[in-house]
Amino acid sequence: MKVSVIGAGLAGCEAALQLAKRGIEVDLYEMRPKKTTGAHSTQNLAEFVCSNSLGSLDPTNASGLLKAEMSALGSFLIKAAKESQVPAGNALAIDRVVFSKKVEELINQSGKINLIREEVTKIPTDIPVILASGPLTSDSLAEDIKTFTGAEHLHFFDAIAPIVEKDSINFDKAFYASRYDKGEASYINCPMNKEEYEKFYNILINAPKIELKEFEKNAKFFESCLPIEVLASRGTDTLRFGPMKPVGLIDKRTGVENYAVVQLRQDDKSATMYNLVGFQTNLKWGSQKELLHSIPGLENANILRYGVMHRNTFINSPEILYPTLQCKKRKDLFFAGQLTGTEGYTESIATGMLAGINMANFLQDNDLLELSKVTMLGALTHYISDNEQKHFQPINSNWGIVEELNVDKKIKKNKKLKNEMLSNRSLEYLKNLLTV
Ligand SMILES: Cc1cc2nc3c(=O)[nH]c(=O)nc-3n(C[C@H](O)[C@H](O)[C@H](O)COP(=O)(O)OP(=O)(O)OC[C@H]3O[C@@H](n4cnc5c(N)ncnc54)[C@H](O)[C@@H]3O)c2cc1C
Repeated sequence: MKVSVIGAGLAGCEAALQLAKRGIEVDLYEMRPKKTTGAHSTQNLAEFVCSNSLGSLDPTNASGLLKAEMSALGSFLIKAAKESQVPAGNALAIDRVVFSKKVEELINQSGKINLIREEVTKIPTDIPVILASGPLTSDSLAEDIKTFTGAEHLHFFDAIAPIVEKDSINFDKAFYASRYDKGEASYINCPMNKEEYEKFYNILINAPKIELKEFEKNAKFFESCLPIEVLASRGTDTLRFGPMKPVGLIDKRTGVENYAVVQLRQDDKSATMYNLVGFQTNLKWGSQKELLHSIPGLENANILRYGVMHRNTFINSPEILYPTLQCKKRKDLFFAGQLTGTEGYTESIATGMLAGINMANFLQDNDLLELSKVTMLGALTHYISDNEQKHFQPINSNWGIVEELNVDKKIKKNKKLKNEMLSNRSLEYLKNLLTV
């Protein structure tokens, strides 16, 4: 029994190790150093391409809970990360060279993994496959994935808007309305007067941006998907005639049409998360926070996902995957990592782990592991495979996607207590699952 894992990045290495642990032989393909991605700078396995942090370790933080779940489920890379840790407060930051070395040792010691330094240009058809070639999948393989999934199911660029938690919006200022009262009043609107708009505009045009990598600079963005900072640079009023257009949006409490309006659109079925319409951005996260908190109604908004922009190859998972990460169209094919539309280092390792476990389950005729939405990993895999979604965009771990607690509003308002309860519920669920 043998599996091909394509890509020895974060997801691919974790998946290969999970397979090896279960006695399955792996051909692990990595195209570096023969061919590189433009973002990777070494030939090391599981290279961290940008920051060296995996985020919080606190299990009452969304990313921290994901890591606690992964430790419970036996993630090799989270263990290696902890052994390569450098001081960073509550966050799990690593020495990336030490980390890659540890991963390489694990791969070599497994006795089951054959590392092949070659580019894979087509999805192999004669062997079970885990595709973990990442956001910078080589062009030829991306082309083949496109053919396999159907052209409309492969996306290349991320220009995504921030998402905030509804419960943290101040409804003394924000109001529900649809433009010209058309349809249900399902949008949340944050109104601005002239002075507030000017303050917002000044923060925006002076905010530092993340430098795009050389290969990303030539990217063509759709005119309708331009980052807000690009629109703002065209003139003071460009945003007021674009995504912040106030026309037709009346606050029924005052009868006023405002100077500018930021609209938020529901992002999940349970209406806990709202994205800022037309607010895709490449600002640094600190600046995004300052900018969003300058918007009336969002002064204390809890930002569940920041806007990002970089080349990001990802499949339209809601059409293609089950929550087990198995492909609907081909049962011996699993997807893992950023390619699935889960965003971030921790999330990539997590989906690599699940794909590895489930490929082994599939080959050994065991039931596939479909985690409940009470866990962060289950919530993520259900979110990306929810085929009722119309405009799928990558997501990272956040409380908004987790199954709601069945408790009264008072407890829900106490964020610390609520997160503790959510975290305990997940870890308890996994404890039961693992003892069965
Ligand atoms: C520029 C950039 C910066 C990012 N910064 C951060 C950050 O700071 N924090 C964060 O949490 N997330 C960040 N991400 C998002 C994401 O977490 C990382 O990209 C993460 O490494 C994804 O893990 P992965 O395993 O899916 O892909 P990767 O870790 O990229 O692994 C994929 C591997 O597949 C190989 N490969 C590609 N095509 C082929 C092929 N055809 N044949 C063989 N091998 C192939 C690649 O060389 C690579 O080694 C960033 C992404 C990008 C693009």
